[in-house]
Amino acid sequence: PSMSANNFSRNSYHNHPNQTKGDFFARKQKIEQQRKSLPIAAVERRLVEEVRNNDTLIIVGETGSGKTTQIPQYLFKGGFCRDGGIIGITQPRRVAAITVAKRVSEECGVPLGQKVGYAIRFEDVTSGLTKIKYMTDGLLLREALLDPYLSKYSVIIVDEAHERTIHTDVLLGLLKNVQKARSKCISEAVNTDHNNSNNGHASDGRIDNQNNGILKPCQAKKYNPLKLIIMSASLDARVFSEYFGGARAVHVQGRQFPVDIFYTHKPETDCIDAALITIFQIHLEEGPGDILVFLTGQEEIESVERLIHERLRQLPECNRKLLTFPIYSSLPSEKQMKVFMPSPAGYRKVILATNIAETSVTIPGIKYVVDPGLVKARTYDPKMGVDSLIIVTTSKAQALQRSGRAGREGPGKCYRLYQESFFEKLTDSTLPEIKRCDLSNVVLQLKALGIDDVINFDFIEKPDRTAIVNSLWSLYLLGAVTEENKLSDVGYQMAKLPLDPVYSKALIVASQFGCLKEMLICVAMLSVESIFYAPREKLEESRNALKSFASPDGDHLTLVNVYRAADEFFQKNNMVNSKEKAEKSLRKWCKDNYINSRSLKHARDIHSQILRNVEQMGLRVTSCEDDMLLFCRCLAAAFFLKAAVKQPDGAYRVTLSGLIVQIHPSSVLFRAKPECIIFNELVHTNHSYVRNVSRIDYLWLVELAPHLYALQG
Ligand code: ADP
Ligand code: MG
Repeated sequence: PSMSANNFSRNSYHNHPNQTKGDFFARKQKIEQQRKSLPIAAVERRLVEEVRNNDTLIIVGETGSGKTTQIPQYLFKGGFCRDGGIIGITQPRRVAAITVAKRVSEECGVPLGQKVGYAIRFEDVTSGLTKIKYMTDGLLLREALLDPYLSKYSVIIVDEAHERTIHTDVLLGLLKNVQKARSKCISEAVNTDHNNSNNGHASDGRIDNQNNGILKPCQAKKYNPLKLIIMSASLDARVFSEYFGGARAVHVQGRQFPVDIFYTHKPETDCIDAALITIFQIHLEEGPGDILVFLTGQEEIESVERLIHERLRQLPECNRKLLTFPIYSSLPSEKQMKVFMPSPAGYRKVILATNIAETSVTIPGIKYVVDPGLVKARTYDPKMGVDSLIIVTTSKAQALQRSGRAGREGPGKCYRLYQESFFEKLTDSTLPEIKRCDLSNVVLQLKALGIDDVINFDFIEKPDRTAIVNSLWSLYLLGAVTEENKLSDVGYQMAKLPLDPVYSKALIVASQFGCLKEMLICVAMLSVESIFYAPREKLEESRNALKSFASPDGDHLTLVNVYRAADEFFQKNNMVNSKEKAEKSLRKWCKDNYINSRSLKHARDIHSQILRNVEQMGLRVTSCEDDMLLFCRCLAAAFFLKAAVKQPDGAYRVTLSGLIVQIHPSSVLFRAKPECIIFNELVHTNHSYVRNVSRIDYLWLVELAPHLYALQG
């Protein structure tokens, strides 16, 4: 089958280290050709005009039509950076921010971090030269804390708005305010004190919040108007248009080839197994073309990857030409670009992706899609006050997006691993995240931005009142807001850290306890998915390996032990070897110890970032050395919101919600079953389990969180 439907030559992305000058020009020409062949290229001039004529514009276009990579370049060329402003593009997912920035810098023929750069939590690859900046929506929200007018941006593009992440929703409200304040006509019409030049910041750096976060227009006068572009892959632009006062919406015609949809005859019980069977069926029976498989997360992706390799070994040599490429958010960024490389001649690629590949990143070469119909989603139970990640079925809209990925370059096939009748029962679209998620982080951020009356904030869709009230209550218990519902000093410090409020609070408490060194490690390790490598078929071995790190006090100290052992091993090697060698032996060490080296690397990166953050904040970074009791007391003082007490039958009752839970089998305390525990995570499968558990004394709660705990079990 022809792959040339939109001039994609499949060998164009090789990055040969010993590239010759001729290669370089050939490659440059290829890229130019690809850019020109994108559906969006035909309307470049019209789009630039639309942006010039409309301060707010909604652009709707099929995934893969070139919105994310091309529009910022068109605007740059169209002169929207001329007055010194830059173009910011937000993405819900960091993988998209990174891979797209890399691609665009390549298209522009410049090194990443100069004209084109990206910034995500814990990583900033931009410079004074950066004009096109890709970033996560959450990061731009954080920038607004330091620069409420977002003054360095002349254009802000909110990409993938249809995803309706909680950060996108909050950002839309915020940008509406910023745009109003920066728009010239308003600033000229209103006449307030022109002498006040502190642009909305009180003298201590906080935002003056007398106006519930409404920025004073007069202070914005020195800024240029802000161009706002909302981009979406879903056809329904109405909600965005209405929210922005009837803003203009334009549709970009995409290119879509027919995709044959297949359903299973009966329901699948084991979706991993069903996916594997389907992958091999395609590989052995279908013509050339790469396969995209939608899985729910890192763990599932890693186990499918392993199982594919196992099955490949059982096939005759000639059938083994299948290569796997994972892509998920915590994959180290140097690995992420690999999915874009074309497969060597005769080989077929299988891309194992989370819903990142649904609309955020378009991978060339896909002809087959395998869709088990599941996605990991954040859910929140306002009655219980618990936030958890659970696997849920996709919406119809998601299923359609997924199958669409097979028809980008020619006719394709999509295998839905469920029955057709099941598809009919799916909801039309996904509920916006703000309706199903713990809001304490958002409420804290809004308050730090000067928006005190969160309940009356102009959200595109209002979150449930109970959810807001609950998050205010937990922020109050954490000491972040006062009884009058105002942000406290501690709350302001917490908002500045790029972490969940509970983790920020843990760092602040730990600096008072004198064990911040340990807590930094603990929080970094808690911030990554699955540190322990525990494949289903090697559960016994991995549990044994864990024993050498296990702490009788629980998972938190166990995580600290793992980190320290790894670090010690690395430092020893680093002294006698090159850094690359030391990193390589660390990966080997991880393998021997059943530690997930990708996750550990991520935790080490996060650690160095938050260490810098707390140092900037002036917190004392000291170690409690061998005083484990002190550290466990600190855990109780930090995580008291999630405590549970053992019941006569060995189950646990969560103190605040009354929910009955079990300790997860992966915990080092699974058998020990202490009387009282604190935990960080609640997972619902067939049971409710708590993960990342430590043993505490109930009396510590009474002593350290007296506002919540009284003297009785
Ligand atoms: P949209 O935002 O409209 O979904 P994009 O701008 O992301 O579209 O993608 C445009 C085209 O660029 C797609 O066909 C995609 O395959 C290609 N592309 C995007 N990123 C890369 C990359 N890193 N390497 C190669 N091709 C890429
Ligand atoms: Mg896009």
